Amino acid sequence: MATSSLRPRATPTATAAEPGASWPAFHRWQALFAAAEMFPAGWEGLHAAPAPDSPAAEEYERRKVLLFSEWVDMLARRPAMLAHYTRQGIQARIVRQHPERACPACDPFNMRELTPELDAMPPFHPGCRCVLMAVHTTRPRRRTKSPPRSRRRSG
Ligand SMILES: [Zn+2]
Repeated sequence: MATSSLRPRATPTATAAEPGASWPAFHRWQALFAAAEMFPAGWEGLHAAPAPDSPAAEEYERRKVLLFSEWVDMLARRPAMLAHYTRQGIQARIVRQHPERACPACDPFNMRELTPELDAMPPFHPGCRCVLMAVHTTRPRRRTKSPPRSRRRSG
């Protein structure tokens, strides 16, 4: 596995194209959501850092590490998941689980079909709850209403 993802990147980007998980990237997402004043569901308790020595600080750190490692895990699973869909020839769609809650990172991808690009598949950010749903590709073959084989009128 590539370890380059752990290296902080020189140019901070807050796009969904972030190739890997790193703490600088995590903090960029946090800043981005704070600026947008909309935190996704997984960020409860992480909207703002408590005072360093407060009783809440420990819990805050714990939650942060939890969310971070979940993000790392999900990113690591992406290639296998994509390979699975590709191999099986399954077309899939990205679906947001909490569409009622706007998400600046996921909204552009909602209902989009899965492409071979890793960056265009969830998770789009730490705490992302987007899922992939298989698309049923039954072609809308227009069925010409063929009446039950009509008896040939003979005579
Ligand atoms: Zn999201």
